[in-house]
Amino acid sequence: MARYTGPQCKLCRREGVKLYLKGDRCYTGKCAIDRRNYAPGQHGQARRKVSEYGLQLRAKQKARRIYGVLEKQFRTYFKEAARQPGVTGTNLLRLLERRLDNVVYRLGLASSRREARLLVTHGHFEVNGRRVNVPSYQVKVGDEITLREKSKESPRIKELVERAGEKTPPEWLEYDAEQVKGRVVALPTREQIDVPVEEHLIVELYSR
Ligand code: SF4
Repeated sequence: MARYTGPQCKLCRREGVKLYLKGDRCYTGKCAIDRRNYAPGQHGQARRKVSEYGLQLRAKQKARRIYGVLEKQFRTYFKEAARQPGVTGTNLLRLLERRLDNVVYRLGLASSRREARLLVTHGHFEVNGRRVNVPSYQVKVGDEITLREKSKESPRIKELVERAGEKTPPEWLEYDAEQVKGRVVALPTREQIDVPVEEHLIVELYSR
């Protein structure tokens, strides 16, 4: 289960937008995008004309980085999205949204997708009463996501649970703060997926 382990803020600076990869820090004045909003590296501040391919590549990299998915797995998602009926770009984002780590993040039970991935890997969550420690697990309509009883003792998880109660999840998810239980009520529509990605550029890139 490979993942990117390099500096997170560099990724946001490369894409030129906040990707909210570091949880709480992203909402403080320490955010690198607020302080140095230009690409990293020696030529980061140079003006450059971006080609059509460059735009497509950036769209794909941005989506990959937001969801913390490596190239190979991203390509697999794309193939699956192209196989499904409907709009390939929307199918792709929907597959990414349905990852268990993303759902945990969307429910407010982690401050970032990265933290959600860690919590899932450590086996803190159950889907329909069964422990699932695979961050890429695809949730489906009707699935119930709960915290394991033992995990509720952890001080960090207690803090996250408290904060989750104050947040509102997207319409395709339901959260019961009392029981600390999330439920998938529908598949997300494109309008409900608030990621700054132009998915048609990704489709164009892979159709080259
Ligand atoms: Fe991106 Fe967060 Fe770093 Fe800001 S603090 S650059 S949003 S990862």
